[in-house]
Amino acid sequence: MVKITQDQDACIGCGACAAICPKDWAFKGDKAELIGSKKEGNLFVKEVSDAGCSKEAANACPVQCIKIIE
Ligand code: SF4
Repeated sequence: MVKITQDQDACIGCGACAAICPKDWAFKGDKAELIGSKKEGNLFVKEVSDAGCSKEAANACPVQCIKIIE
């Protein structure tokens, strides 16, 4: 399994993740939300078999608050 994590506090709401990977990312207020994630500590986390387009979203995030842990 692969973990996708997001430090939502660091998100600046640029919209890159939702534009690149709308199946995993949506907007909630002025921050991006990892669809289907659970809060663990200060991170939102989702386990998937393949990170897919969230890899590109992580690379595009200007504040690097999306991590892919394989
Ligand atoms: S790419 Fe990063 S900073 Fe931009 S909306 Fe997504 S999580 Fe937030």
